[in-house]
Amino acid sequence: MPQLLEGMTGLVVGVANKRSIAWAIARKMDAEGARLVLTYQGERTEGDVRKLADTLANCVAVVPLDVQDDAQIASSVSAAADALGGIDVLVHAVAFARPEDLGGRFVDTSREGFHLALDISSFSLAALAREVEPHMVARGGGSIMALSYIAADRAVPGYNVMGVAKSALESIVRYLSWDLGEHGIRVNAISAGPVRTLAARGIPGFGTMADTINARTPLRREITQDEVADTALFLASPLSASVTGETIFVDAGFHAMGL
Ligand code: NAD
Repeated sequence: MPQLLEGMTGLVVGVANKRSIAWAIARKMDAEGARLVLTYQGERTEGDVRKLADTLANCVAVVPLDVQDDAQIASSVSAAADALGGIDVLVHAVAFARPEDLGGRFVDTSREGFHLALDISSFSLAALAREVEPHMVARGGGSIMALSYIAADRAVPGYNVMGVAKSALESIVRYLSWDLGEHGIRVNAISAGPVRTLAARGIPGFGTMADTINARTPLRREITQDEVADTALFLASPLSASVTGETIFVDAGFHAMGL
């Protein structure tokens, strides 16, 4: 049976460990025949990411990428494009805010903390899109996706500056969809429900928040990394050929609820 992503290539940014949403996406893309390059943020995660990459059938390279470093964005995207012979899919699953800017009052966010959170969690999508664009144009189009959260639309106490960063991220998705659409490049976001990952553990009270949310979802359960990855497969594949500028909720229906 032909695989969904046969002959396609992808750059996956945001694998830290086996719980990472980006890792679930990489595994599913690999299983559907895509050839991949994974990135790691720094020496601290390099070993773990390389070990995970070794378990994939079609991972051709693992490259360093700190999204605050413009030179590294350029060199790593270029290395990925060389190793893959072009890039069809970019997965952006990156976020960071200082612990002191999460959990307290948003009004107390420092200017420095605000800039850091939006630089890493929002602007990085535009910076990466700019670098992958020529490699996607050369392939006749592509698909870019980013990971968001409902705190982009609603005030979620404690999520604070990360909610503002996700609002910016979803807006960036819409602007990029216009800029890149004429080249057949689609840009979308997946707004995932709570998943217990490393980044999620940085949100104070995440466990309680997740339990409350899960009790109020139409499906009355948590979501999994694999369910997010299934929607990522759809966005990566020709099945979503006319979907762009969109934020798709994968949250067991929580976004549809009132009080
Ligand atoms: P994770 O901790 O596994 O992934 C976050 C990644 O961001 C890590 O790989 C980390 O290395 C990377 N990162 C942070 N700063 C970076 C930098 N300067 N340069 C390069 N990489 C950097 O956690 P996750 O939950 O899988 O997060 C992936 C994405 O999913 C994030 O955008 C997150 O906001 C989003 N998301 C998560 C949840 C959840 O509940 N876990 C819900 C909705 C959206």
